[in-house]
Amino acid sequence: MKDSFAVRAMEIHDRIWDQEHVARVLDFMAANNMNTLILHANDIVDAVVWPAYYYGEKNSNQTFYEHYKAIYKKLYKLTASRRYMPVHRRDYLHWVIRKAAGMGILVFLQNKELWFPDYIQEVHPAVCKNGHFCCSETFWLEFIRVKYSELMADFPELGGVITSPGSRESKLSVTSNRCECNSCKTLDSSEWYYQLITAIHEPIHQAGKTLVVRDFVFDSGSQQALSAAMDRFPADIVLALKNTPHDFYPTFPNNPKIGEARQNETWVEFDAMGQYFGWGIGICSLVRDWQERFRHAAANRVCGMVVRTDWEGLPGHSCFDTPNIVNAYAAALLAEDAARPSSDVYRRWLVAEGLIAEGAANAMIEECVTWLGGIFDRTWDVIRKTVFMDEYVFSDSSALPVGLEHAFWLAEEKNSLSDWHAGKDKTLRGTMENLGKIVVEKEQAVAEVRELLSLLSVNRGLSDSAHQRLLEQFKYFAVYVKGFGLVGQIAIMARVLAAQPPELGNLRQLLQERLKELLSHAAGVEHWLSSKELPYPVFALLNPERMRIFHDDVAAKIESWQ
Ligand SMILES: [Zn+2]
Repeated sequence: MKDSFAVRAMEIHDRIWDQEHVARVLDFMAANNMNTLILHANDIVDAVVWPAYYYGEKNSNQTFYEHYKAIYKKLYKLTASRRYMPVHRRDYLHWVIRKAAGMGILVFLQNKELWFPDYIQEVHPAVCKNGHFCCSETFWLEFIRVKYSELMADFPELGGVITSPGSRESKLSVTSNRCECNSCKTLDSSEWYYQLITAIHEPIHQAGKTLVVRDFVFDSGSQQALSAAMDRFPADIVLALKNTPHDFYPTFPNNPKIGEARQNETWVEFDAMGQYFGWGIGICSLVRDWQERFRHAAANRVCGMVVRTDWEGLPGHSCFDTPNIVNAYAAALLAEDAARPSSDVYRRWLVAEGLIAEGAANAMIEECVTWLGGIFDRTWDVIRKTVFMDEYVFSDSSALPVGLEHAFWLAEEKNSLSDWHAGKDKTLRGTMENLGKIVVEKEQAVAEVRELLSLLSVNRGLSDSAHQRLLEQFKYFAVYVKGFGLVGQIAIMARVLAAQPPELGNLRQLLQERLKELLSHAAGVEHWLSSKELPYPVFALLNPERMRIFHDDVAAKIESWQ
């Protein structure tokens, strides 16, 4: 029997208001049998709901334009921009939902709570106490019920809402509450989550739609409070989990919460673009990794998969602009059948994107699939040895760290692997043994990407233009790997030097040489960037400014250790 997922979803974050991009994503989904489009913006519900109730319209069952007819003067007087912003965004979303429905695709909105318009402070001034928003105000629960009632009345064709209640990235949450009123001092986090989710769930449930709750929290205390609340949720709430704990780090084990839910359905989220694996500038096919993770999810009663195509931190960039689009094809095919071989993914990608040479016979297509699939299957190993350090996250969301402390803070504190992997707590310590291992890792990455570039140089079935474009993209990739490799080597050498082991030998001199190499690499990249028209994400990831600031930080430290 096939391990298939009932919900096969694609998520857009950055470009939800870009109709051409949305149309492109819908075409991809329809062609690849995906059935759920997720539009993600922290404020998306507030962008399309006033709510009219707070402008004097108490009947939440009236239509949007009936409300508008009654309150346009008040809107203009009290909050001029809320007169037209929700109108046009609401009409736009209706256009997307209709277009998607015509292709058999259901639309969900994804947001963070609490979110609210500034005008709410005027409606109910007690939400603010001593200059801080107050989490304990029960008014929030009324506001949430009103907001979602109006949303449900206006969008009867929506599939539902996906929300993150525990994030610091919302406008107000119990995790970021700074109010010091007596109620807030004794506020029970788990109870707060429960009340909030119940208030969102009621109108959505009444409308016969689905509420999905994400466990997107930043620390283990918040996670426990949210987990305790989740145990009490009504059975029709769906839980969404990232495939790895904390964030999308492919070196991490499967999220241990997959399979834990007793009564609620679970969806699992994947990232195709690669916030933490090179954005597609560092090219990274996760087809083989995902075969295992999809099988694991299917074996643990997961019924939905979500693939994220972009990251809101990067304006105008998505997997649709890079070779990492191959991960989107992997998600679509593995969602239908977790046992699909990787050659199926590569064939679908090459044919659907029109990359094969015109008129190629089947045998030629198969040769191209084997050749390019073989190259792409090895990219993850290069990225693993580049932006990770012995599996630890060694990047600032794929960009270079800007100093020695920054590098190890990212690896050991912010994105700590050892929280999830017991054997890994000593591997980044400043010992000669660790140094040897990490230097080899970085040198291997450089050698491997060069080998891939050479394997790619003889075209075996791509159209000339596709071949030239891929060669160019692998050249950026190689430059990226080299810069990261130098920074990684310098970081571990400096750490060992700071620990002053007796067998230090010529480490100081070696470190000085690597620092010189980094400066010269930065100068080369600077020259190269200024001589070419390159897309912004290439510029951001190869940024020589970051190499120099890292260099200067380490050079100053070596001076101080004399
Ligand atoms: Zn308070």
